[in-house]
Amino acid sequence: KGDPRLEAISQAIRVVPHFPKKGIMFQDITTLLLDHKAFQDTVDIFVDRYRNMDISVVAGIEARGFMFGPSIALAIGAKFVPLRKPKKLPGKVICEEYELEYGTDCLEMQVDAVQPGDRALIVDDLVATGGTLSAAIRLLERMGAQVVECGCVVGLPEVKGQCRLNGKPVYILVEPR
Ligand code: AMP
Repeated sequence: KGDPRLEAISQAIRVVPHFPKKGIMFQDITTLLLDHKAFQDTVDIFVDRYRNMDISVVAGIEARGFMFGPSIALAIGAKFVPLRKPKKLPGKVICEEYELEYGTDCLEMQVDAVQPGDRALIVDDLVATGGTLSAAIRLLERMGAQVVECGCVVGLPEVKGQCRLNGKPVYILVEPR
């Protein structure tokens, strides 16, 4: 709050009405990636928040969680774990379903990636209903990790710290425009 970098980050995200379908106000973070300063500031804000929270694993949600998570993980000295759509990851995986507007989808995680006692930060570009983050939280907790927080670039103000996400706090940089 009051951080001048946040206004520039918000402005760097392009809003595309009716994408990928009618009625959706798509928050396109690819334009944020093109703006070196805004992209750097985004990563820096997360890094400043998490560097002293003893995070041992950053879990990024496919695909846009992959665009922010690894930079944060490297800067805070944590491992990076991809949470992927079904049938992308080899070896033994666990799967958690989440609701879509029509039907369900699944996120998978490799079981060897996380150990009991790991302290996890989950990263995605945007939180809307929280369904995707909830599935991610369940994956990490099934392997015995403690989910410290979920960090998203964009989110509705009413999502902050809400119990829909299994009581886990959600840290959000900017609201959708
Ligand atoms: P939800 O599970 O409802 O919280 O939806 C969050 C997931 O859907 C994230 O992975 C987002 O990338 C994507 N998403 C949902 N709504 C939007 C939107 N308006 N603009 C961009 N991405 C979105």
